[in-house]
Amino acid sequence: MSEETNPFLIAQKQLDEAAEILGLDDATHELLRWPRREIVVTIPVRMDDGTVRVFRGYRVQYNDSRGPTKGGLRWHPDETIDTVRALAAWMTWKTSVVDIPLGGGKGGVTCNPKELSPTEQERLARGYIRAVHRMLDEHTDVPAPDVYTNPQIMAWMMDEYSIIRGKPVPGMITGKPLEVGGSPGRGDATARGGIYTVREAGRALGIDLSGKTAAIQGYGNAGQHAHRLAEELLGLKVVAVSDSRGGIYNGAGLPPADVARHKSESGSVVDYPGADALSNEELLELDVTVLFPAALENVITETNASRIRAAIIAELANGPTTPAADLILHENSRYVIPDFLCNAGGVTVSYFEQVQNAYNYRWEEALVHERLDKTMTAAFHSVHEMATTQKVPNRLGAYLVAVERVAEACRLRGWV
Ligand code: NAD
Repeated sequence: MSEETNPFLIAQKQLDEAAEILGLDDATHELLRWPRREIVVTIPVRMDDGTVRVFRGYRVQYNDSRGPTKGGLRWHPDETIDTVRALAAWMTWKTSVVDIPLGGGKGGVTCNPKELSPTEQERLARGYIRAVHRMLDEHTDVPAPDVYTNPQIMAWMMDEYSIIRGKPVPGMITGKPLEVGGSPGRGDATARGGIYTVREAGRALGIDLSGKTAAIQGYGNAGQHAHRLAEELLGLKVVAVSDSRGGIYNGAGLPPADVARHKSESGSVVDYPGADALSNEELLELDVTVLFPAALENVITETNASRIRAAIIAELANGPTTPAADLILHENSRYVIPDFLCNAGGVTVSYFEQVQNAYNYRWEEALVHERLDKTMTAAFHSVHEMATTQKVPNRLGAYLVAVERVAEACRLRGWV
């Protein structure tokens, strides 16, 4: 990994910029540049053919000044301690920007889950918990799903942890299936939270979104729900969507249920009848009111940023815009809702899941939506106000809000 692409060095640089504007003292700044605690483990797993493979796993507790650490578990071939550290830092800023009483953490295993059978995945999940369980509990550090982990894996992990503790401990992990302590409303929480921030951006910019157009890059969990909810909650007309195989366009609008069905039947949105083909690059440059990058990192770069025409860019994906592109978008008055604000609905409802588990009670879905709306709306306005008064891009505005809160918690605890 080069110095420019090492995500932890990027995360540290982003913090440095915010620290300078906030005038953080050296000790606080240094404290926030590093994880407070981390562990690297080796996990032997018996494969279906009887051989044993040894995997490397990680758990990083970045900062717990505002509450128990929280953050997903990623199973990916490229996972390293530095990707986990960066993601743990970003979780710290994400829980802070939405002002929920949690810190930031992250974990993972270097592996390719597509090469593992379900029984091998289960043994890896249980092995991971046996290796890191001393660092976890419902009041200390609570994992969740991330890339290539899912509710089933969370259920196995919760079961293994409960066996070790000798009692059910559903609150030790979130993103579980409903039947074993998951929360209503977790499935579409990321997209829903993002849609609430777009609604607020429309209000702040004086744009009536009803009947306006939108395009969505990526058609997985975040993208599909965003399509449905953009229409349902904001009256937006989604004219283009895409996935890894390409995109589709229809100026009259694309019906969410039909496109989702086509994707689940054929494996892609491509070749959906009644729409024209378009490339992922073309989708990003469409003349729409709202653009949702909901797939990958680094898709809006120095090369294409000046051609982005959307008035609002709602970053459901993590890291879709490079730092150089961010400046170009800001100069061109494009309104970016930065990733760790826009996609914070997932961790917010995960937090609600923890709360419900703590008193063994299930909320109605409507209550989850109402509380998510309140949280996302307040977070949006704190970032909008900070960026406006400081005259900085929204991403830096979000950092200023988040880092200041964490720094204050460290001070109040007497750490610095
Ligand atoms: P997913 O795996 O369900 O879907 C990803 C989608 O992106 C798929 O439709 C895939 O075909 C598409 N894709 C892959 N490569 C592409 C390419 N080159 N061009 C266009 N599309 C491409 O993942 P997801 O959960 O929807 O996550 C998407 C993004 O949202 C990620 O950056 C993730 O970190 C972020 N995010 C998701 C959540 C959540 O709760 N799901 C929470 C926070 C952030």
